[in-house]
Amino acid sequence: MFTDFDVAIAGAGPTGLLLAGDLARAGVSCAVFERRPERSGLTRAFAVHARTLEQLDARGVADELVGTGIPVSELRIVGGAALDLSRLPTRFPYLLVTPQYETERVLEERARLLGVDIRYGSMISGFTSHQDVVEVEVREHDRLPRLFRAGWLVGADGMHSTVRKTLGMPFPGKPVVRSVMLADVRLAQPPPDVVTMNAVGDFFCFIAPFGDGWYRVIAWDRHNQPPEGTPVSLDEIRDVTREAIGSDFGMRDSRWTSRFHSEERQVPVYRSGRILLAGDAAHVHSPAGGQGLNTSIQDAANLGWKLAATAQGWAPEGLLDTYDAERHPVGKQVLRQSGAMLRVILTGPRPLVGVRNLLAGAATRIPYAARMLADGASGIGISYRAPRDAHPLTGKRAADLPLAGSRRLYEVLRDGRFVLAGDGQLPPNAIDGYGDRVTPVSPAAATGTLALIRPDAYTAWAMSATAAHGGPEQRTAEIRAALARWCGEPARAAPQAVAGH
Ligand SMILES: Cc1cc2nc3c(=O)[nH]c(=O)nc-3n(C[C@H](O)[C@H](O)[C@H](O)COP(=O)(O)OP(=O)(O)OC[C@H]3O[C@@H](n4cnc5c(N)ncnc54)[C@H](O)[C@@H]3O)c2cc1C
Repeated sequence: MFTDFDVAIAGAGPTGLLLAGDLARAGVSCAVFERRPERSGLTRAFAVHARTLEQLDARGVADELVGTGIPVSELRIVGGAALDLSRLPTRFPYLLVTPQYETERVLEERARLLGVDIRYGSMISGFTSHQDVVEVEVREHDRLPRLFRAGWLVGADGMHSTVRKTLGMPFPGKPVVRSVMLADVRLAQPPPDVVTMNAVGDFFCFIAPFGDGWYRVIAWDRHNQPPEGTPVSLDEIRDVTREAIGSDFGMRDSRWTSRFHSEERQVPVYRSGRILLAGDAAHVHSPAGGQGLNTSIQDAANLGWKLAATAQGWAPEGLLDTYDAERHPVGKQVLRQSGAMLRVILTGPRPLVGVRNLLAGAATRIPYAARMLADGASGIGISYRAPRDAHPLTGKRAADLPLAGSRRLYEVLRDGRFVLAGDGQLPPNAIDGYGDRVTPVSPAAATGTLALIRPDAYTAWAMSATAAHGGPEQRTAEIRAALARWCGEPARAAPQAVAGH
């Protein structure tokens, strides 16, 4: 069936841009349709967490993004309690404070270098899904609609997703907080912490730097909740900041203000036939914990290689459905946690605020609880469900293993292929027929484990490499079974040329 592209993507936000880059890297043709006339200079998210930076590292762009921001290794939560991120087991033991437009710039430049066709001023206004193809209706710069044919359509078009609405997919949930004020301001005296946040009584305030002298302030007053669209005055923001933090830091010169309300919603399923939903199109929640952009980028990292394998025809049965099976529960958990965090932050009565601050202080001082909180906030703790009898590493995040030849696992993952890691124990014919999908590597130091790492840096399969667990034949058989489960059928050897023909 003739198509214009293998995959059409609605939306050039962080989700669509990372996904498009991954598809192009795998050799899948794709176009991104973005209704805005040009890249946005506005920012919503500020927080890029460690697991997202690891995903960007596995694409060779983390160091560039880190250069645009400020690493924060101690995160003040409420009432002076602070979460220590410096012990996270990662190259990025911190939260990176950088405006969302920097993350989008880095992802867009990568996608363009890989050949992605990004079309600004192009709004997807509808689609029709057929058995083999999706016909996508696009309005370019307000001209008459044009039809494009794609094998797959991904709705990465944000909270008000046209793709989701056209599917008729419900988006159940509820508003969680109304009339939150945003402003970009200058401060005469910068706050002592990079990220400042506190809530006292009926007031909440958050301040983060853009890095160019401007600061984003998010402020909320329980007793002042006019409808969205009501103008925000600098005086209102100043008053709330003083109440919540004790100073307005000489706030002046607001260049932009807005008022929004936050909702908690998630679609029941992330795939419907040839249509997939990712990022804010699939889930939205309160900004508490700064998880939206991070969860969205990780949706795209999970989906990209599975969709590429499916579009290229080598995906094993059911691979694409694991996108929903793995990412829907993560989205649900993020909704639950960010909602709980918001309610804790916005605790109203003063006696309860005292209890809240005591509990927050205790949780960040008990090592086990602090580690759980840091793993949860950073995304380092995310793992996917594994079969009951599987090796304990199965489904877990793959750590950035140093490899023989002074490379790192995440550098090898930049090819977008599976990695088979074994302590010099890989049988010689282990990956025959999979050379186009799997890169074999040797860790720099013995790990006692053979592991198949997915392109999104999670362990697909692992086994103990000690002699007690079988000789080379059993090892080969288990590796081949894992490859068939995750990487599909081996490529057939090219037929031998017959002499004289
Ligand atoms: C105040 C605030 C603070 C936040 N802070 C954080 C934070 O610190 N950390 C964090 O992780 N997250 C944060 N978030 C959430 C984060 O901004 C989003 O989760 C993230 O932008 C989602 O990315 P996305 O690509 O899925 O969607 P979006 O960024 O919304 O991108 C969707 C794109 O699709 C385009 N589009 C829409 N409809 C169409 C159509 N029909 N055709 C073509 N294009 C279309 C839009 O123009 C847009 O560019 C915050 C959000 C808010 C509101």
